[in-house]
Amino acid sequence: MTRRPKLIVFDLDYTLWPFWVDTHVDPPFRKLSNGSVCDSSGRKIEGYPAVQEILESLVNEGIPLAVASRTWWPEGARQLLNLLEWEKYFTYQEIYPGSKLTHFKKFAEMCGISYSQMLFFDDEQRNIHEISKLGVTCVFLPNGLTCNALEEGFQQFERKNL
Ligand SMILES: [Mg+2]
Repeated sequence: MTRRPKLIVFDLDYTLWPFWVDTHVDPPFRKLSNGSVCDSSGRKIEGYPAVQEILESLVNEGIPLAVASRTWWPEGARQLLNLLEWEKYFTYQEIYPGSKLTHFKKFAEMCGISYSQMLFFDDEQRNIHEISKLGVTCVFLPNGLTCNALEEGFQQFERKNL
């Protein structure tokens, strides 16, 4: 039987979507009648191609999901999570600037599980470096979340928790 993490944590910018919410997209955001989300310049806002399906399948597997973002514009990030209809996938959301050690302390408190049972995906080495010291299995993603990256994460997690 394969071991699965008890919590999977995702960064937002350049992990779930291909931009910095506080820099690269312009509010106000809106949803068009065809369901797509745009910023004020008409730029289409969407996640990396595999993200929706991955979130859906992890939730169906019964694994709780969380967001850890250090964006300078938490309100914008929340608006986009809402417009993209991703809010329903995340049991926990910690979105504010500063070290992600704070975000992870909150997760540990709220879910009462140890760091070794968490899996984390992020596109910045400094976050990976900091959070791996806690004992969390961390996966560096240079090009956003993909099915292969998820699989790699599961394998790393299993190797660490033999
Ligand atoms: Mg990022």
